[in-house]
Amino acid sequence: MLNKIALEEHFAIPETVEGSLLYNRDATTALGIPERLLDLMDYRIKEMDDNGIDLTILSLNSPGIQDILSPAEAAKTARIANERLAEVIEKKHDRFRGFAAIPMQDPDAAIAELQHAVLNLGMLGVMVNGFSQIDTKENCVYLDDPMYKPFWAELEKLDVPFYLHPREPMPWNTKLLENHFWLHGAAWAFDVETATHALRMLTSGMFDEFPRLKLLIGHLGEGLPFLVWRCDNTLNKRKRGMPAKRQIAEYLNDNVWVTTSGQFHTPPLICTILQMGADRILFSTDYPFEEVKDASNWFNTCSISENDRKKIGRQNAIDLFKLKL
Ligand code: ZN
Repeated sequence: MLNKIALEEHFAIPETVEGSLLYNRDATTALGIPERLLDLMDYRIKEMDDNGIDLTILSLNSPGIQDILSPAEAAKTARIANERLAEVIEKKHDRFRGFAAIPMQDPDAAIAELQHAVLNLGMLGVMVNGFSQIDTKENCVYLDDPMYKPFWAELEKLDVPFYLHPREPMPWNTKLLENHFWLHGAAWAFDVETATHALRMLTSGMFDEFPRLKLLIGHLGEGLPFLVWRCDNTLNKRKRGMPAKRQIAEYLNDNVWVTTSGQFHTPPLICTILQMGADRILFSTDYPFEEVKDASNWFNTCSISENDRKKIGRQNAIDLFKLKL
């Protein structure tokens, strides 16, 4: 399929690239992960051209801003990342748009950066890499924390999507994976951490208070479309103090969109279509941690209707981000 739009595609600035060195691997391409993260023109555009991607919505690498302990430093780095991304988008507006990086370490600064990025820089939404560490490594704050209510109110007012992206769980949260380093990262830990974080948000009541919030989750919903019935079935029998008024599947149907990033496999895609509908799924790669050609070769030929392919590959992104192409 030509003219695809992709939206979990990462870049880095020198100030944040170190956070992704862990995921570098033997080069299968001319450039390694750090070089491809830092490249915002030539190599990236060739990859898009070679694989039928018309437009990419760029986002800062993980953990990006979220592991900067000083709130002031987090705010400063987010501003630098967003301004540099805006310069690239201005030069290549026909090929690139962007998600803003947000310093969630300070809710007031987060609102200020959200407003600046969306209203002044033209960012189409925000991407946050999981929990934020505030002042100390141990102080990990998740997005269902009540201190973020004014941020959600502003996000709802601006009517732009919020992309919850994975980061590694902290060692004290992963006794389960002790001495099993191979299960960290995208092999397993990212999905468990991010699905759990999303469930914290979806069951917190924040989507009752702010019903027009739009939450994006990568990797075909980090397993939630497959698992949500069992969650709801258990909670329907006994709510156990859950604040949310509705079933999780209802929020998935009304507030959540998912992307195909890093999940180039048809059975989980069919499961996601059956659970959420083809209107809420968007094509993505997870560049440069995944290869664009792997995502595209699979998506261009996978066994779904051509109508669904057009929606997932392009139209759903145009609708969600109100793109005028
Ligand atoms: Zn990613």
